[in-house]
Amino acid sequence: MPLNSIPIRPTDLTILEPIIGKDRIHRMLATASEVTAAMSGRSIINVNSTAKGGGVAEMLHWLLRYIRGTGIDVSWYVMDGTPEFFALTKRIHNMLHDNKGDGLALTAADVDTFREVSLRNAIELRAVVKPGDVVVLHDPQTAGIAPVMKELGAIVIWRCHVGTERDSELRRAAWDFVRPNLENVDGFVFTRKSLVPDWVDQERLVLIPPSIDPFSTKNRPMTHERARAILQNVGIVQGGVNGAVPEFTLADGSTGRVNRMADIVRTGPAPSPDMKFAVQVSRWDRLKDMQGVMEAFAEQVDGDRESRLVLAGPVVTGVADDPEGGEVLTECVEAWRELPHFERHRIQLVCIPMTDIDENAAIVNALQTQATVVIQKSLEEGFGLTVTEAMWKGKPVVASAVGGIQDQIVHGESGLLVNDPRDAKEFGSAVQSVLDDGKFARELGANAAQRVTEKFLGDRHLLQYAELIIKLI
Ligand code: UDP
Repeated sequence: MPLNSIPIRPTDLTILEPIIGKDRIHRMLATASEVTAAMSGRSIINVNSTAKGGGVAEMLHWLLRYIRGTGIDVSWYVMDGTPEFFALTKRIHNMLHDNKGDGLALTAADVDTFREVSLRNAIELRAVVKPGDVVVLHDPQTAGIAPVMKELGAIVIWRCHVGTERDSELRRAAWDFVRPNLENVDGFVFTRKSLVPDWVDQERLVLIPPSIDPFSTKNRPMTHERARAILQNVGIVQGGVNGAVPEFTLADGSTGRVNRMADIVRTGPAPSPDMKFAVQVSRWDRLKDMQGVMEAFAEQVDGDRESRLVLAGPVVTGVADDPEGGEVLTECVEAWRELPHFERHRIQLVCIPMTDIDENAAIVNALQTQATVVIQKSLEEGFGLTVTEAMWKGKPVVASAVGGIQDQIVHGESGLLVNDPRDAKEFGSAVQSVLDDGKFARELGANAAQRVTEKFLGDRHLLQYAELIIKLI
């Protein structure tokens, strides 16, 4: 059945006041009134391609709640695609990052597949979109819906969360495929300037970096005791089902409980929770370079025998629009098997259950809370919410200097950036430096949390959206 409507529970944005202060709250409330007046009966309709797994879904879940909380009519639909469609859009995604993915070219038959699925979804959408409504389409998967929405008289914003800064033949071919759908959209939103292809009309372009919600299940403060209990219960560290109760607090303040275990590839029993942990949380996507993290850790981070690496991602059947997950996980497991026994013993590959997204978020929160250092060794990255999430928790982050990660971390101040994401040696020594020097790690973490408070929380993001919507109306 095409188009899945995702429920949005209104949240009052004044709950942010203890974190961002009165002035920022007043500014938001004033802007919300302006938007409400400008909207006069219009709705904002968001469309993307998955309700769980990945940064866009993560952000829509909470961002739209705050918008609803102001009384503005906002909704969210997830498009329905065939396996063929998602294989194609994954290829486009890879090519936009200058990666050949499944290696196939984009053909005329692909244009038909793309058009057919887009049209089917657009027809369903016509039942809920009125002329004058604002339709926000996220990422290349949804681009084919734009022309139908324009014909209907909607204001169409296409928001792109992905891409590489490097010009290349693959990237150009992918943009050539997507672009014809977007000629008439009213606004383009990109994360940073360097990711914008040169055909995008500058007049219609706005740059809006993503943000996180400090009250989401994933980002709420979690005590070390709770985090430890969760990691024990899912099987990542020693302890277990008879220990402390693995409870967590949800965005609405209610209490949840982690019931499922993780799928874990490891040698022998779980490590002690008192060890130092390096953690990367990512989808199983080659561009996240989980395998590279593992190899860099095994080869370069060894002085400290107390440190362990956790590579965690969603269960590979859990993310509908990401069909390559299983393949990438298998490659990682094979590479892990090739490691010397001692190294295998220090590294575990973890698949986090996705059945309940709050449970999943609580496990990610626990991993980030208990990490000694968080790694994000992406080869390309639109923004990298995992970096923001870890910074918010006051963790030292070692990450590649690619895409939006560069806007988040000031090297040496609020984290460490590695210039060449493929340089295992530099990565390893950056990770080691943080593991070895607790004071330095704490300083980086404290500055990181401060930077997120200033730049990457929802108010800045919502104000930028509001400005754009007022301008387009
Ligand atoms: N994530 C998650 N569970 C997982 C793996 C990732 O909830 O098992 C989340 C992660 O915490 C972050 C998002 O998915 O919020 C990934 O966003 P990011 O911008 O880092 O990368 P993307 O997946 O969008 O490329």
